[in-house]
Amino acid sequence: MTRTIAIRLLPTEPHAAKLAALQATYSAACNAAAYLAVEHRCCNAVKLHHLAAQGLRVHRANGRDWKLLTFRREGSVHVDARTFRLVDGTLSIFTKEGRERVAMRLGAFQRSYLDCGAVREADLVRRRDCWYLHLMIVLPKVERSPQTGVLGVDLGENIVAATSGGTLYGGGKLRNTRDRFLAFRKRLQGNGSQSAKQLLAHVSGRESRHVRHVNHVISAQIVAEAHTSGCGAIALENLKNIRTRIRMGKRMRTRLHRWAWSQLQKFVEYKTEAFGIAVVYLDPAFTSQTCSACGELGQRSRHRFLCNSCGIFAHSDRNAARNLAKIGVSALAPTGDVMRPHVAAQ
Ligand SMILES: [Zn+2]
Repeated sequence: MTRTIAIRLLPTEPHAAKLAALQATYSAACNAAAYLAVEHRCCNAVKLHHLAAQGLRVHRANGRDWKLLTFRREGSVHVDARTFRLVDGTLSIFTKEGRERVAMRLGAFQRSYLDCGAVREADLVRRRDCWYLHLMIVLPKVERSPQTGVLGVDLGENIVAATSGGTLYGGGKLRNTRDRFLAFRKRLQGNGSQSAKQLLAHVSGRESRHVRHVNHVISAQIVAEAHTSGCGAIALENLKNIRTRIRMGKRMRTRLHRWAWSQLQKFVEYKTEAFGIAVVYLDPAFTSQTCSACGELGQRSRHRFLCNSCGIFAHSDRNAARNLAKIGVSALAPTGDVMRPHVAAQ
């Protein structure tokens, strides 16, 4: 199984200049190769490499620049084992002025992949002023994780995901962005002119890319949390169940906006593969009204949950996630594994 992970680079200013120079040279070389491929009607990479190498020398000897070439200057730079290495959490890469060590931002997600996989090739990518390494990693076939915890994850309208470990993902700031997109789309829909329709398509595309990005980030964090907190399984709620539950909520009924939960669930599923973490889907009733500590029905008031029996006061989504973790344990019981809910202190 191969996976590509994105790592944000943290180059110093001189580093960034050298990376930009490398990028310019690389796109120039690509252009030369493309030009030669057409001219010599040759698509063999090795032959093309030799042709390009000769081409580079000729160009240099004649003092020409590369104006006839058409590759984008800001295109990505493909690097392989000969031109880059990862050393102690930094990127060691050949630039035009020799080898440089560039710092990288490694989160739990990236580290967990680097720990278990073999690094192959990579693309050096620039987005505006940020540099990223899109790293291809070959992962060994993973057996079912021996870890016994079950992480419950509650997906919702208000907080995109809450875990039984107590983490809340995608709260206030994300909601504001969603509301802004929604308001803008509504205004454009009401307009009806040709240019408004074009802008609507543009905005919708931007919004779905934003949602996709957020889902990638959240799913990666959920899986990393499961892995690092000793969980061998993640308990999620069935999408149909989520939709029914949310339709029941009074405040949400008027809200037209729906988060792309099915996409988030798919992302969680494929990201768990690398760790052998199982995903179990549940159809629980009353997860948001039941107390996760004593099992009695409690009171839910907006984001707060209060249990009159044992007196627990908690975030309602966290409480629901803890319930999912517990129900997940019994759902997994028939497989013969001895599991326990991963539940953080109240
Ligand atoms: Zn209780």
